[in-house]
Amino acid sequence: MEHKKLPVVSIVVPCYNEEEVLPETVIRLTAILERVIAERLAAPSSFVLFVDDGSRDRTWELIESYHRTHPHISGLKLARNAGHQSALLAGLQSVTTRSDCAISIDADLQDDPNVIREFLVKFQEGYEVIYGVRDSRETDTFFKRFTAQAFYKMMKSMGVKITYNHADYRLMSRRALEQLHRFKEVNVFLRGIVPMVGFRSTNVYYDRHERFAGESKYPLKKMLAFAWDGITSLSVTPIRLVTSAGFLLFLVSVIAGLYAIVQKLIGNTIAGWTSLMVSVWFIGGVQLISLGLIGEYIGKIYKEVKHRPLFIVEKELTPLVSAGTKGPAPAPQELQPQG
Ligand code: UDP
Ligand code: MG
Repeated sequence: MEHKKLPVVSIVVPCYNEEEVLPETVIRLTAILERVIAERLAAPSSFVLFVDDGSRDRTWELIESYHRTHPHISGLKLARNAGHQSALLAGLQSVTTRSDCAISIDADLQDDPNVIREFLVKFQEGYEVIYGVRDSRETDTFFKRFTAQAFYKMMKSMGVKITYNHADYRLMSRRALEQLHRFKEVNVFLRGIVPMVGFRSTNVYYDRHERFAGESKYPLKKMLAFAWDGITSLSVTPIRLVTSAGFLLFLVSVIAGLYAIVQKLIGNTIAGWTSLMVSVWFIGGVQLISLGLIGEYIGKIYKEVKHRPLFIVEKELTPLVSAGTKGPAPAPQELQPQG
């Protein structure tokens, strides 16, 4: 137990125009890192990786200067603004082979960095994906709270597995990260994809604070785009809705048809009304059903082109007999262990 290898921990921080918060972020993150290293929850070679997502302010200059003065700080500069999710993924890809687990956290200190300690305790207990979940949203504006809640509800109703009130504050083991990188989609919506990876996971709860300094880099327009991206890149339910609407309309067309015919028989109609009524409803229904049907195939194509892994292996037990046992063995070449 004494000589157990300590995990190399990396902390990945996407930064876009964050010169105002960065100095404080560096102080807090290096403090917590030093603490978990002292407590032997992390190896001394653990580090923080700041990903500069094409900032237009002095963010990168700051990262460079912190890199020179702090032994635990490293940086990655993207050539242009790729967006939060892509910047985060870039950082995670860069640390995957260099660390045993990676923690992603925003630069603005809204997510309490002290929770990292709890993440690492859970990691030692054998959890491989640990979600940071906000306990309350009191510091958010009413509007942000309301829209976020509506968003989670909508995602759930569309069959997307997503952890409620969890943003991108999480720990993933190296193994989980390697599997995450098998998802080749370009519409990255990490909090929807990570649960698809699987492995033993748990939640850690914390209070979310206000942004330490600077402004949100997610104005309403970006937020809506993000939500829409999440839905359309994880769910084909909207297409199914079209098909359902088609069937509904078709049903209505039958009723409307019967109604029109009855009206005609009673003699309540003028010439041409019945045929118009029946055909308008009927054609509408048929068209929507057809659209939905085509959409269904497009949905299939969309799933195909994502090339998502069909399954992810967690453990494998190989037969002991192949592990160099002696005895009345058949010809050796038949016992080649699987590469
Ligand atoms: N961010 C980024 N690229 C972008 C937008 C944001 O890397 O194009 C980073 C930003 O620096 C922060 C994190 O993503 O570390 C979350 O952004 P923000 O805190 O502004 O979002 P909010 O918390 O308001 O939803
Ligand atoms: Mg924030």
